[in-house]
Amino acid sequence: MSGPYSFAGKRALVTGAGAGIGRATAKRLVELGAEVVALSKTDANLKTLQEECPKIQTVCVDLADWDATRTAVEKLTPFHLLVNNAGIGHVASFLEAKQEDMDKLFSVHVKAVMNVSQVVVSDLLARGLKGTIVNVSSQAAKRALLHHSVYGCTKAAVDMLTQVMALELGSKGIRVNSVCPTVVMTDMARRFWSPPERAEPMLARIPQKRFAEVEDVVRAITYLLSDASDMVHGHALPVDGGFLIT
Ligand code: NDP
Repeated sequence: MSGPYSFAGKRALVTGAGAGIGRATAKRLVELGAEVVALSKTDANLKTLQEECPKIQTVCVDLADWDATRTAVEKLTPFHLLVNNAGIGHVASFLEAKQEDMDKLFSVHVKAVMNVSQVVVSDLLARGLKGTIVNVSSQAAKRALLHHSVYGCTKAAVDMLTQVMALELGSKGIRVNSVCPTVVMTDMARRFWSPPERAEPMLARIPQKRFAEVEDVVRAITYLLSDASDMVHGHALPVDGGFLIT
């Protein structure tokens, strides 16, 4: 494949590539010509991914472990494309949210994005290379959703981190954006959104009257990674069927 959606000659790192959006993104980037490294926490998931897609290289590390993550990513650079996608579903009422859940979600959703991006970007700058980063945020960064106090705060932090990274790195040839999907029925979302009493009120607020498919998010990530979005920088792209306009 040629044109703006060709990633031939590019190396890509996708975090949380063992399942859901990350797994599908890693596979798509291989189809589009990139050399892909899939990072995740559960080795069994990485093994099945590699069986399905033997060209993918895998790395098993817990992103909540700052030092282990840094060491693992440093060994694998350079990466021209980075998708900070790994995430943990978490729902609890404000009064019931626990300190350990805050620590875990901020570690994986925010600190790991900073950590992995620092390693990847420092290496690109040292080599004089350009790069593109997409952080996977959520509509929960932009709207108050019931029982999403911890999750929503981490995703709002991802969007601000995206903006500051864009501000500091744009002049150095590193482009940074995030995507903000609505509900996508991956394993993570199914646990909370399957009951009709939860799904139906949310669907009623989405003008397109459906949840996103994994493929909808993969296409948005691919666009933001590609030269087709060359002047799009520092933005949070909703993939939400219009939820955020209501
Ligand atoms: P899944 O649960 O399907 O996949 C999450 C992936 O993240 C898994 O591969 C998992 O690893 C990995 N992961 C979780 N914790 C860690 C960790 N500590 N270290 C390394 N890897 C880790 O989730 P989705 O595909 O649904 O979500 C992907 C992203 O999209 C997340 O950031 C999520 O917040 C966001 N999002 C999801 C929405 C949805 O409705 N599904 C809506 C909006 C945003 P492993 O498989 O190895 O255990």
